[in-house]
Amino acid sequence: QHLKKYFPIYGGILKRQTGEVKAVDDVTFSVYKGETLGLVGESGCGKSTTGRVLLQLIEQTDGEILFENTSITSISKKEMKQRRKEMQLIFQDPYASLNPRHTVEKILEEPLIVHGVQNKAQRKKMVQDMLTVVGLDSYHAKRYPHQFSGGQRQRIGIARALMTHPKLIIADEPVSALDVSIQAQVLNLLKDLQKSFDLTYIFIAHDLGVVRHISDRVGVMYLGRLVELAPSTTLYEEPLHPYTQSLLASVPIPDPTIPAQDENILSGEMPSPSNPPQGCAFHTRCPSCMDICTSSRPTYQEVKPDHYVACHLYNEREAHA
Ligand code: SF4
Ligand code: MG
Repeated sequence: QHLKKYFPIYGGILKRQTGEVKAVDDVTFSVYKGETLGLVGESGCGKSTTGRVLLQLIEQTDGEILFENTSITSISKKEMKQRRKEMQLIFQDPYASLNPRHTVEKILEEPLIVHGVQNKAQRKKMVQDMLTVVGLDSYHAKRYPHQFSGGQRQRIGIARALMTHPKLIIADEPVSALDVSIQAQVLNLLKDLQKSFDLTYIFIAHDLGVVRHISDRVGVMYLGRLVELAPSTTLYEEPLHPYTQSLLASVPIPDPTIPAQDENILSGEMPSPSNPPQGCAFHTRCPSCMDICTSSRPTYQEVKPDHYVACHLYNEREAHA
């Protein structure tokens, strides 16, 4: 709720703080148990930072995070350590996130050790079982990360995230680094695991194409702000925010049911997050920009049941209704 994460910028020879990047700037949303919430936006929009703040891997500047009605932003470090095993992250680049000097067994054992599974034999058994669950073989336990393909490494990353039987998984572009042919396999694995382990997913991606078929709801971020959030079908069929409309128009394989809207194809560069435009941060690229958009930040509000938008087009409509 009202989550903010600002990073200081230091400059000059004195290395004084000269500004800040509002990586996440007042973001509020809920994730329901058992669902997949897609979180989409161009690079630099704050989606990964949001994920890391949610897991408390980095501390928020402001705002509150509730996990099963407990405020995890106000509990102690010790309590958070307990909670941490219920929330895990899957990384974009499985290779960078796996220690090259450790065997798969050691990599998968580590979260168990951190969370107090003392018995070595028991840990070994748990690792073996988890390898099978993610579609690898038990003999893989003795191998090192470089001996695997990209897809297999992501399976190891997924196995590691599952070792502590988390409830919530934040998957940060888990298939972006993989070949298209492998992407579908990993997405299917994630879907199957969701069912068998009763998982809730926040699935971060940079385009709307990837999350379409796995998300129950999708949120779209732009320059640190959530601009639209809706159930998937609604978002893809009736996007309300001009930015979402542009993103959909630039999805590589357009949905034939959505008429091509050439004028909506995203133009211009994304402004720097350290110096975002006043008012609506999207106004410099928005084909529907109005006077008010350059000075006043639109409120993020529910404009239809379960459909949230931050755009003056709909604020006005509300006011005139
Ligand atoms: Fe475009 Fe204005 Fe809506 Fe921003 S608030 S998306 S500039 S119409
Ligand atoms: Mg990222």
